[in-house]
Amino acid sequence: MGLLQLGTPLAWPEAKQAANQVREWGIEQLLTIWRKAKVKERDALLWGDEIEYLVVAMDDKEEKVRLSLCQADVLKKLADDHDLAKQDTLVPDLQDNTIRSGTLPTFHPEFGRFMLEATPGKPWGIGFKDLLDVESDMKNRRVIAKQHMDPDQYPITLTTFPRLGTRDDYITPYYPPSGPALRSQFVPDEIANPHIRFPTLAANIRSRRGRKVELNVPVFKDKSTPSPFHDPTVNYDLHIWPEDDDVRNGAAKQDCVYMDAMAFGMGSCCLQITFQAKNIREGRTLYDQLSPLGPVLLALTAATPIYKGFLVDTDVRWNQISRAVDDRTPGELGEKPLKNDRWRIPKSRYASNSTYIAQDPRLRPEYMDPNLIVDERLKQKLVDGGMDDLLATHFAHLFIRDPLVIFSEDLLVLDPEGSNHFENIQSTNWQHMRFKPPPPDADIGWRVEFRSMEIQITDFENAAFAIFIVLVTRAILSFDLNFYIPIPRTTENMETAHTRDAVMKEKFWFRKDPFPRRSPKASPMLKGVNASKESLGAVDDEYRLMTIDEIINGISSSSSEEEDYFPGLIPLVESYLDSVNIDVTTRCELARYLDLIRNRANGTLWTGAKWIREFVRSHPEYKHDSEVSEHVVYDLFRAVDDIGKNEGKDKTVGWEMLTATERQKGLDD
Ligand code: ADP
Ligand code: MG
Ligand code: MG
Ligand code: MG
Ligand code: MG
Ligand code: MG
Repeated sequence: MGLLQLGTPLAWPEAKQAANQVREWGIEQLLTIWRKAKVKERDALLWGDEIEYLVVAMDDKEEKVRLSLCQADVLKKLADDHDLAKQDTLVPDLQDNTIRSGTLPTFHPEFGRFMLEATPGKPWGIGFKDLLDVESDMKNRRVIAKQHMDPDQYPITLTTFPRLGTRDDYITPYYPPSGPALRSQFVPDEIANPHIRFPTLAANIRSRRGRKVELNVPVFKDKSTPSPFHDPTVNYDLHIWPEDDDVRNGAAKQDCVYMDAMAFGMGSCCLQITFQAKNIREGRTLYDQLSPLGPVLLALTAATPIYKGFLVDTDVRWNQISRAVDDRTPGELGEKPLKNDRWRIPKSRYASNSTYIAQDPRLRPEYMDPNLIVDERLKQKLVDGGMDDLLATHFAHLFIRDPLVIFSEDLLVLDPEGSNHFENIQSTNWQHMRFKPPPPDADIGWRVEFRSMEIQITDFENAAFAIFIVLVTRAILSFDLNFYIPIPRTTENMETAHTRDAVMKEKFWFRKDPFPRRSPKASPMLKGVNASKESLGAVDDEYRLMTIDEIINGISSSSSEEEDYFPGLIPLVESYLDSVNIDVTTRCELARYLDLIRNRANGTLWTGAKWIREFVRSHPEYKHDSEVSEHVVYDLFRAVDDIGKNEGKDKTVGWEMLTATERQKGLDD
């Protein structure tokens, strides 16, 4: 999350008053950026990953792990370390993979005061050799982060802290709930980055909604879990803030773990990949073609089975973040008649995508979201400014949202060459794909960000997923692949990805034939003509339900009906690798990563979610009542740290070994 400049933030309702001005100015800035950048050609194929860490403090005496609110200290130590640039390779077992010279990683703040983000010092290039540097670069980032922490502090790549929001002292330094910004009964305001942007964001989401955010995650019903389950940590007798009434008005749902603050969502760590395309056309293609892969990669990277000290019945973070920043009013949610707001809005501003944007003859109108809400007036401005209908629709959809954090200084004069107002809306639309226009002040091209993946415990896994997605984009562009399915199917797949063990147990909508057969008629989409009725059946015939194994590893035609053949993403990547010149060593190195994806998809290797869940369930102190105690969490973090250490010692992967061992136990559900 990029920090916008400091200033005087407006509280809601003043911000609400200025919303139209920000949107108008944002659209003007967008038009300027677009006019300048739409002709950009031949930008390099670059890409970069983002790794997010929780920082914890291990208390080995008490055998307790706490979230450490040390983000600012660590970032300061990193900034002050002038010798860092002189350091040579930091990961001794990967001597052959030295850090690219002069490219120390970059560290960034994040929402949680216990979080850190690290990116490569400069984006990766197209070369295969670069792919082989990713894992060691990620390892180096972790080593550098650790070097700038206290000895008891560790950067950990788990998506969430399992006991965030419990009644014990799970943070250090300790602050009790609750504060004026979040008004949470579980977490203090000090849990968030103190930069004024973050408390303002949280407070204005809450004010706009008219109540606190509401996260209810179904509890995992184990043998001894009370049924019905009522979250025992909820306090119904608080009378500090008006929002304390939320729980008395039924905010906490039966059989769910209840949470009430932005930190429970935006305090999660993920793995994001950004690609630069050679021009806007290619960027629009990548945006569309990667979109249907979002839910599949979410399920494959599932790593989030615990919230607020309880095992839950879902495996991923996504919906929790979605609810943690859901600023929709009761009218927009459809709970009350619309009074002051303009639309019923089907999705949170953190949600799966609702638009396709490629000027591709294969994009049929039937693929578009029939429930798309668009600000028609702003769309008209974009169209009048020369933008095509499809792209104007995309941005006019993002611009249905109110700006949440407005600095009064920014409202004085419009900088038409700037991007602050545009980015205000753009960067608070957290969809699973993001189309990033070039910043006005840098020589950067059109970029597409893939945002659904969960952070993985080891850098080997994080590298594997990053590399896999990179290779998939190469296959998409090289073979002109077609993964289009109707957007509502992707929305549905996103829900499916939440199911416990979705990788093994669920099926996802996916396109049957990814090869580039052009649709027979000239595209009605580009002309803005509506779907003709007779073509609707044909569209539904283009996709079907597949398991993740089928999507990733394919369905051979010999083992099934010719009808059912699907090549699979890994075989497509392999064909792409066959089609380009790479040396045997590189190919073998890449195979290690592709094997992880292949084996994750076919169930040979477990997801992080499954491993964590079974770690808890097989712990001698676990009472099979869904509660994950402080001591179990301490052991979990010890185990996670050990996996990382083993991974560093030899080139075989600790994670894989551990997973395989755990697997032998064969715990049943
Ligand atoms: P955000 O948090 O807004 O998504 P960040 O700046 O944190 O963006 O990181 C985005 C990623 O994009 C980083 O890995 C960075 O290395 C990478 N990146 C930077 N410039 C480019 C570029 N021109 N093309 C592709 N990736 C880039
Ligand atoms: Mg981030
Ligand atoms: Mg970032
Ligand atoms: Mg950023
Ligand atoms: Mg190197
Ligand atoms: Mg990002």
